[in-house]
Amino acid sequence: MQTEILKPTDLNIMRCASRLKAGELVAFPTETVYALGAVATNAQAVKKVFEVKKRPMDKPLIVAVSKKSDIKKVVKSIPQKAQILIDKFMPGALTLVFDRADVIPDEVTAGSSSVAVRIPDNAVAQKLIELACAPVVVPSANTSDKASPTLAAHVKDDLDSKIEYILDGGASEIGIESTIVDVRTDPPTVLRAGGVTVEQLKAAIGEIKAKREDARLSGYMPNAEVLFSAYYDGMTDNICKRYDELMAKQKTVVILCLDGNRSAYGDRNVYTVGDSYEAYAHNLFALLRKADGEHYDAVIAEGVNPVGLGESLIARLIKLSGGLII
Ligand code: AMP
Ligand code: MG
Repeated sequence: MQTEILKPTDLNIMRCASRLKAGELVAFPTETVYALGAVATNAQAVKKVFEVKKRPMDKPLIVAVSKKSDIKKVVKSIPQKAQILIDKFMPGALTLVFDRADVIPDEVTAGSSSVAVRIPDNAVAQKLIELACAPVVVPSANTSDKASPTLAAHVKDDLDSKIEYILDGGASEIGIESTIVDVRTDPPTVLRAGGVTVEQLKAAIGEIKAKREDARLSGYMPNAEVLFSAYYDGMTDNICKRYDELMAKQKTVVILCLDGNRSAYGDRNVYTVGDSYEAYAHNLFALLRKADGEHYDAVIAEGVNPVGLGESLIARLIKLSGGLII
């Protein structure tokens, strides 16, 4: 099978929607990362997603709809606090977990009676899902051993010859996955920190529970060892020390740092992530791919302050480092 990258013209979006309707898979842009779509109500199509991604069957998939009024078609009921979150953050990088409606097959939810739902904040994604006339599963469009793709070219690197079409919508704006909140509990429970921050959620609905993510359960790991620094005054000095120790052991190392800290690392290898936590999130996965492409043995990632997107970045970096914090 040839994999074609398509410009997101109306005609091409229609072409992809008809492939989805026929039970095929299509990759497309969202504001978080690129998604590998299949019609969520088609169990055979959903099974193909697990095969192509080499994803463990017990890891449920998020379902996307194109507009708020379609959420009720895939869930049993919408609790009051969920409605507030829907009104405030959808479309956007927020996924809510509900009791699932019968139209959603076991294959999507790994047998669970719940379903995770979101509305991507991306015009191409919304149009595609609308034209498919069905909810669409939206796992990241990578094989499970690779970083989530934030460019059409990343998708092609991973899934070449396994899918027909990739709609190219340019770089994903946010670059990390959605925040997941279980609204079956009261107060709701944050299952994964992501594009919408916990502070934003609290401002909207008050109390919210946080469930610690298990670092050992992470899927993707870069080939390079990831060391993640705590955030404190002496951080850059400590990173330099660890870098020099690794170099003395003949390891090749690169530091991920904010633009403002660049000068603290002298002539050591550095990838700058930008000048904000938003930029750090946006560039993180692409830079980890780059580090693997350039065969670095280790990546040392700067720590961040746990405010705003910083909290979601910390959750990602803890997973990527296997919980190893320097
Ligand atoms: P990924 O597609 O890799 O971004 O992963 C989707 C995430 O959503 C995983 O962490 C799943 O555990 C979570 N998820 C999907 N469906 C459900 C569900 N029904 N209940 C709880 N978590 C879910
Ligand atoms: Mg993923």
